[in-house]
Amino acid sequence: MFEDSEHLLGALYYRGRSRGVPIPRIRKLETMVWEERWHPLRREWVIVSSHRNDRPWRGETVDEGRDTDVPYDADCYLCPRNVRISGKTNPDYRSVYVFDNDHPCVGPDSPAVPEPAPSVYQSRRADGMARVVCYTPRHDLTLAELPQPEIVRLLETFREQYLELGDRPEVRYVLAFENKGEVVGVSNPHPHAQIYATNFVFRTIETEIQASTEHLAEHGRPLFRDVIDAEESDGRRVVVQQGSALSFVPYFARYPYETYIAPRETHASVAEVSADELSDLAEVLRRTLVRMDNLWRMSFPYVMVLHQAPTDGARYDGFHFHIQVHPPLRKPGLLKYLGGPEIGAGNFLNDTAPEQKAAELRAVPETHYRAVRA
Ligand SMILES: [Zn+2]
Repeated sequence: MFEDSEHLLGALYYRGRSRGVPIPRIRKLETMVWEERWHPLRREWVIVSSHRNDRPWRGETVDEGRDTDVPYDADCYLCPRNVRISGKTNPDYRSVYVFDNDHPCVGPDSPAVPEPAPSVYQSRRADGMARVVCYTPRHDLTLAELPQPEIVRLLETFREQYLELGDRPEVRYVLAFENKGEVVGVSNPHPHAQIYATNFVFRTIETEIQASTEHLAEHGRPLFRDVIDAEESDGRRVVVQQGSALSFVPYFARYPYETYIAPRETHASVAEVSADELSDLAEVLRRTLVRMDNLWRMSFPYVMVLHQAPTDGARYDGFHFHIQVHPPLRKPGLLKYLGGPEIGAGNFLNDTAPEQKAAELRAVPETHYRAVRA
């Protein structure tokens, strides 16, 4: 299964028996690169971690939306009591379980940069910390199927990680995210998120900070607060409202079904959200994800990201913590492909109306289809 996972220079990846035609395989080149490289045209850091090409991969084919029915999988490196690739054994955990990623893209073991980058280039150590957050010992569940108290516990874990990792001197940003579904490259169906605590602030967050700071200075109100007001006064794109939290497909959505989940009040991070707000936020997140799963009666793939302020010690007044969900599918089995405008030039074409997509999510029931079937 891992026969082709050599480190290859130049991102070339040959499969030896493609269509019966023998393709010469490039033999292993010992050019391991693990560092950060500055992209001078986009003005952002790229993490180069070629050693991660060897990490375990369970998503051999793209077969999105497949449900898993076994609560424990002896071959899963995230299930309780199982041995991971590093030789470490998972404890018999009963709730959320966090551990250091065995294949970190950033970390304390990253090597010193061997030589100064040539010419206009810049590089530096890929310092930081990468962790894995298992939501539950249950291999067969997804975030949408967890009871609300377990989602509260997960959000509390993200808070603890934000504070702990953000306190490290080398860490400027704590990025918590979940890639869900083989179609977005997840290598194991066991419900889990990842945390990249990096020595730089991610580009999208930087842009959000700049927009939020300028809006606050100009209008005296947080930008995201005005976005929420606009969504609630229009109402057509709101998906779920409960107490102090809501979810909506934003007016400016780039993906079909792109959805934001947020507390109404402005807090720079999950660390500043009160217990009552966290409870509402967890329930809105749960109800929103159930609606996504029920839409096509399949496990809905997505990329979910927590947008929080950096942890570099500066003040970020006006930055509004929220969760973004970016689903890659337009219809079952039909990807929204990223092409010239998106990949090549950075601006999105959305072929769907956000108002229509929000209406579809509102039209489905809030009892998860697998709970009904059970
Ligand atoms: Zn598992």
